[in-house]
Amino acid sequence: MKPPRKLHIKSYGCQMNVYDAQRMVDTLGAEGFVETAKAEDADLVILNTCHIREKASEKVYSELGRLRLAKAQAARAGRDMRIAVAGCVAQAEGDEIIRRAPVVDVVVGPQSYHHLPRVLQRAAREGRAIETEFPPQDKFAFLPQPKPDDIRARGISAFVTVQEGCDKFCAFCVVPYTRGAEVSRPVEKIVDDVKRLADNGVRELTLIGQNVNAYHGEGPDGRSWPLGKLLLRLAEIPGIVRLRYSTSHPRDVDESLIAAHRELPALMPFVHLPVQSGSDRILSAMKRKHTVHDYRNVIDRFRAARQDIAFSSDFIVGFPGETEEDFSATLALVTQIGYAAAYSFKYSPRPGTPAAEMQETVSAADMDERLVRLQKLIDSQQSAFNSAAIGTMVDVLFERAGRNEGQIVGRTAYLQPAHVMASHEIIGQVLPVRVDSLERYSLLGELAASMPARTLRTVSSQTTIGA
Ligand code: SAM
Ligand code: SF4
Repeated sequence: MKPPRKLHIKSYGCQMNVYDAQRMVDTLGAEGFVETAKAEDADLVILNTCHIREKASEKVYSELGRLRLAKAQAARAGRDMRIAVAGCVAQAEGDEIIRRAPVVDVVVGPQSYHHLPRVLQRAAREGRAIETEFPPQDKFAFLPQPKPDDIRARGISAFVTVQEGCDKFCAFCVVPYTRGAEVSRPVEKIVDDVKRLADNGVRELTLIGQNVNAYHGEGPDGRSWPLGKLLLRLAEIPGIVRLRYSTSHPRDVDESLIAAHRELPALMPFVHLPVQSGSDRILSAMKRKHTVHDYRNVIDRFRAARQDIAFSSDFIVGFPGETEEDFSATLALVTQIGYAAAYSFKYSPRPGTPAAEMQETVSAADMDERLVRLQKLIDSQQSAFNSAAIGTMVDVLFERAGRNEGQIVGRTAYLQPAHVMASHEIIGQVLPVRVDSLERYSLLGELAASMPARTLRTVSSQTTIGA
């Protein structure tokens, strides 16, 4: 019997890429590949790339430089290492990758990776192969389901893609070009996927999509279901105790979503709602299709539905035309809303987007300075939010063993990492924890049931969501 071929995937960027990487593992697993953590040992290395900012794209070429050496070394040892580039850089710059990087054997876009086995075969025959079409068929219909053992190994928290692509065409963003038009998966297909995950130990679901609350998949009644209705249906599936969704556009928050937050205890009161800027002038130049007033209105509707709701967001500083006054309006909005966390980025012109044609007006030094000021404000809000948990009881869904012996790590409703000393049996359960202290972004505490008990010190890790 031939030994299994080894596959190494390195994923960059958003949650969609994390999900896609898992589905590539499932697809190639059916072809006899097993995952390896070391690129040097692999027969096939896939870089699952991100094109959202210039820095993200550049990483591909520097990584390919490293892989060129690994491939040469494998060849010296008599092994044929294949290199594939997938994801949004593959979609946007496929031909250029083939031209610039002879080390690459295969280029496959985010809508075509279900064809990976076929494309690899073509590369074996023809030397190199590229597939970046937006095929008319639904890739999900072709992707093999993950094996029960793989689901268990991936842990109790899973991403499920319910929607892909984006029709919003914000002036700065490559997503509509790399991921294509908005498409929603049918409700029944998602329900089947989720039942399979829940049967194999998954307790928390994050429904993902580039613009997830534009979801409008076909329901079992033949009608188009909004995200809120889908969430209500998924909450009925035995085993699923927590639901989340990301990333939302402020304009697509409808009554069904607000109602789901009001009615569903399983729907976590933490919403990632990017605003990008606090200036109407800049929002209009960005073609965001909402004003600051619209955004605040949406926040108020969420807050009226659920008092304990908290928000995170994305911001871009230094968009063409942004003045100090526009930037001050962003700081003012952040101060008004009060975020639990947020991501902020320097504007990066992306080829092919309308904003790339605009004259850049903010100097690199001003951009840096604005980013620092914004991040300082966001950090202070995040620290205040985390500190407010000290001395309170919070529900934690426990996920895995921590770095220190006897330590178990979970997440609160707001995705704050929480650490307790406890037995492994609590993994997969939601239990109340009394928070004693904070270490950077992590809450340290004791299980309510085992109090009084030892407290512990631990290594903190930063909450990561969205972006
Ligand atoms: N669909 C989401 C939305 O509407 O907000 C966001 C998708 S995008 C993957 C994640 C974030 O990257 C955006 O919210 C934005 O802040 C940032 N981003 C996108 N294009 C960018 C660019 N050209 N320069 C800097 N940041 C950018
Ligand atoms: Fe990009 Fe989000 Fe705007 Fe769509 S809504 S174009 S994904 S920033």
